[in-house]
Amino acid sequence: MVRHPAASHLCELGHLVRVESAKRRLILASVSLFGTVLLLIHGLAHISNDESRLGTFYLICGSVCTAVLIYTCKRKDHRIPLAALNTILGGLCIVLLYRGISEGFEPYWLFPALSIGLLINRFSHAVTYAVLLVASTLSAYILAGESILGGPLAENSAMRLLLSLSGMSCIVLVATYRTERASKLLNTLHQEDLHRLAYFDSLTGLANRPNYIRWLGKMLLRAEPSSAILAVLYVDLDNFKQVNDRYGHRQGDRVLVEFGNQLADCVRPLDGTTRLYSGEDVARLAGDEFVVTLPDIREPADAALVARRILDLFEGGFTVDGVTHPISASIGITFSEGMGTDAEALLNQADVAMYHAKQAGKNNLCFYSATIASTVEERHAIEEAVQVALRDELFTLVYMPIMDSRSLEVIGMEALLRSSHPLLEELGPEHFIPVAESSGQIRLVDAWVIDHAVAMQAKLRAVSAYTGRMCINLSAVELHNQDLPDTLRNALKTHAVEAADIEVEITETALVSGDEVSLNTLRRLRELGVSICLDDFGTGYTAFSQLMNYPVNTLKIDKSFVHNIFSAENTHKKMTAMLKRLAELYELRVVAEGVESPKQLRFLRRIGCDYVQGFYLAQPMAADALLAAPASAWIDTSALDTPRRLQE
Ligand code: C2E
Ligand code: MG
Ligand code: MG
Repeated sequence: MVRHPAASHLCELGHLVRVESAKRRLILASVSLFGTVLLLIHGLAHISNDESRLGTFYLICGSVCTAVLIYTCKRKDHRIPLAALNTILGGLCIVLLYRGISEGFEPYWLFPALSIGLLINRFSHAVTYAVLLVASTLSAYILAGESILGGPLAENSAMRLLLSLSGMSCIVLVATYRTERASKLLNTLHQEDLHRLAYFDSLTGLANRPNYIRWLGKMLLRAEPSSAILAVLYVDLDNFKQVNDRYGHRQGDRVLVEFGNQLADCVRPLDGTTRLYSGEDVARLAGDEFVVTLPDIREPADAALVARRILDLFEGGFTVDGVTHPISASIGITFSEGMGTDAEALLNQADVAMYHAKQAGKNNLCFYSATIASTVEERHAIEEAVQVALRDELFTLVYMPIMDSRSLEVIGMEALLRSSHPLLEELGPEHFIPVAESSGQIRLVDAWVIDHAVAMQAKLRAVSAYTGRMCINLSAVELHNQDLPDTLRNALKTHAVEAADIEVEITETALVSGDEVSLNTLRRLRELGVSICLDDFGTGYTAFSQLMNYPVNTLKIDKSFVHNIFSAENTHKKMTAMLKRLAELYELRVVAEGVESPKQLRFLRRIGCDYVQGFYLAQPMAADALLAAPASAWIDTSALDTPRRLQE
């Protein structure tokens, strides 16, 4: 049987209330015990000072208190001790008033009073209660003593007794009244607690998922076919995990609370496009996922307006407690199709649209459509396939030679990922890697690649007398993984491979200017001794002047340039030559990838490009084939265009 989420919340709550009331009982017991001991000591002191009447009274009170305490400990029922303590309170008030202030203020009666307060109220209420009790007694007494009686209090004992009695009755009356009310309040408060915790998120105070779904269901039933449109906006924070990773969960919570507040503010006063229906129109579904409902907008554009407003909250970063976090939001929007729409289904549509917005580059909004739904389904299928491939070891690596453009000697092998999972095999890494990146699976994939590629490098050296490097593609996302350098270091140690034998390829588009975290990871990789190659160079946005800040050794000119060297316009030819000169300027190695013809190879040699890679020279090769022959026999260069033959 599926348990309703609200039911489990109630269960948690029941536990919470039990813990709370156990805590309260403990405080009550401690305070009462202290008060009781004082009463007994005081009683004995009075008896030994020949004040037997007062002493006896104290002792009786102390004994009753002891009995009550024992009873409270045995039965966990508050009502009887409550009544008994109330009686003691009354009795002690009489003693206090009878003896008068002039004979010294005796505060012992405060203990049972406080106990009662603690029992029936929350702690802060109890303190207020006690303070009020003391203040009202004293002020009534002093005012009456000085202004009405016109003399020192001690001299008007008859009047004082009279006033004391009426004052005491008032206090007891008020105390009893408050006690009863407070007992009722206790239940109500817990009811409220139960309700709040069952239906509202304890961190942000916004409606939680079960509450929201229930409310949305009601709203959808109410929506008439002809009425205004109901829009659901699914909001998910981008890069929120980094806040937690970098600043800890407490700061992460602060960001969520602040965003929750601002989200509610930015939805509500909305120039008439929507209005606040109840506390449920803004909800926190889980983690960094929020939802906003606009129950009666006039047209879809109104929803986009609200979404933009939410996105604007992140302009220039999101600042909390003086720290600016580089987070943003991805928003999916969907609209109800009138009566009978299922709340869960609607929310799911908005979720799908949000997912799409995230894939499209984050900090974005996206409207739900059937096309989007199928794209998202496909992505889910890929994620599942990657998971299966990782679990069932369906990944392999093939190795593509990188060669010296003149001698055609193999100077590097680029490890390329393949999978025997039918879907992944069909798609190829170009398509499944980006999905693994956005789902977070890339961390496991890249760790697998690192381990296997480094192991292969060791084997190639030992078995095939290979002297070149192993080039490993790493996802740009991984530059935010602080453990990456350690993963690589461990692999090098495990397989006894020199760091200098490894080159890490990172796509140029990964490097966003000012991304200190990525830069730092690159620097740490360099410190390890591995070299770094900027892959697909020329397709990103690196300002050339920035190149000198990047700790890179190699530029790999993207294959799109090489492909188009001989296209009608001369631009790619010029660009390729320009990229080569740029590499020269910064004293970087340069590799041209995607060489598919001897003509392209000749051109690259002419412009002085040292290293080349492409289907014309060699196809990616399987590990077995490489291990079966010495490195010198891997490629039949006789069929290739060599400089010597060129000159002939
Ligand atoms: P990349 O790193 O730029 O790899 C080069 C891609 O171009 C490879 O495709 C390779 O087979 C292809 N290629 C090489 N020479 C030629 C050529 O002459 N003509 C044509 N048309 N293509 C050529 P592949 O293996 O499909 O990889 C595609 C991309 O997937 C890679 O681009 C890389 O970004 C990513 N990738 C591959 N393996 C891994 C991996 O192990 N980890 C990560 N994170 N990414 C990988
Ligand atoms: Mg590459
Ligand atoms: Mg490339």
